[in-house]
Amino acid sequence: MIKGEKELKETNIQVVVRLRPRSTKEITENSSICITTNGIKGKEIHLKTNSYESTSKTYTFDRVFGPEASQFLVYNEIVSPILREVLKGYNCTIFAYGQTGTGKTYTMEGDLVNIGDTSMTIGIYCGIIPRTLMNLFEILEREKDEFSVRVSYIELYNEQLKDLLSIDDRKLRIYEDVNKKGGVVISNLEEVLVKSAKDVIQILQRGAQKRQIASTNYNLKSSRSHCVFSITVHIKETTPEGEEMLKVGKLNLVDLAGSENIGRSGAENKRAREAGSINQSLLTLGRVINSLVERSPHIPYRESKLTRLLQDSLGGRTKTCLIATVSPAKSNIEESISTLEYAHRAK
Ligand code: ADP
Ligand code: MG
Repeated sequence: MIKGEKELKETNIQVVVRLRPRSTKEITENSSICITTNGIKGKEIHLKTNSYESTSKTYTFDRVFGPEASQFLVYNEIVSPILREVLKGYNCTIFAYGQTGTGKTYTMEGDLVNIGDTSMTIGIYCGIIPRTLMNLFEILEREKDEFSVRVSYIELYNEQLKDLLSIDDRKLRIYEDVNKKGGVVISNLEEVLVKSAKDVIQILQRGAQKRQIASTNYNLKSSRSHCVFSITVHIKETTPEGEEMLKVGKLNLVDLAGSENIGRSGAENKRAREAGSINQSLLTLGRVINSLVERSPHIPYRESKLTRLLQDSLGGRTKTCLIATVSPAKSNIEESISTLEYAHRAK
């Protein structure tokens, strides 16, 4: 392999881990800490599975964020460089992968109640989505003359697509785009024009509300659905020669279904079917990332709706980041190991 190629391979797909602090429940239950990191920002994560024999294992990733790592740090280290690629006209994707309750939504959306007010200040608990949009408008307003920003928000539940931003409940369908190699078109999808960072909070809250209203058991459903928030940026630029150029970039921010659904079986029919399709999407995603890393000639995009949906933003000149979220507590150790193994295989 030539050197340039290797560098490309190393930088196009990144796998990082975020270890959250122990929850109140884990503390009251006295569940000991058995996963640790080297501070807020290193590359290693250490596992101690048996305190008596001190069985331990260390995994290495592109980046490992410890429990004290702030939302700002995660944004700055991971998302900010990817946003720069989007502004150059590439499609990129960031996934949050992990067991329910480990911080996928915290990482992607953050705490929407403490999101800050509409005066464009940003709360410290804000996650990647609001931070990206705020930062995006800052850059666009400072550096570009003509631009537009559109967002869409799709929930994929039981292989069915749902538009989280549309007023009514139109059915969404995926079609292959004959004009765009590897691209898909989603019919009826609401793409909301965002005029400024101020609009963003309302849009996010609208999506969160729609997710909630539609479900009798919000937590159960949210642990089984994938949510894809997409930001599309059009930038019109004039070259020094006076030629006009249109650049289109897209960033997908994906809050995946809880990874505990992988391998679950034997439940009632409906649950089994749900678990089956979640399983399929998460496993296919792992295989797609793996095939991209291995530069395999066949990438199995078509094997799940999630990867079909994201096909034009995975592989080629795109950048992809998988953020695996884990709990440090002993009570969750088995799921944490399976998350770390999945993430490690994706490398
Ligand atoms: P998931 O979406 O993976 O099911 P959540 O994002 O809902 O998990 O997180 C579960 C709880 O843990 C929430 O109350 C959240 O605020 C908290 N939490 C998650 N990650 C962190 C973190 N890195 N620092 C502080 N609190 C966190
Ligand atoms: Mg969640």
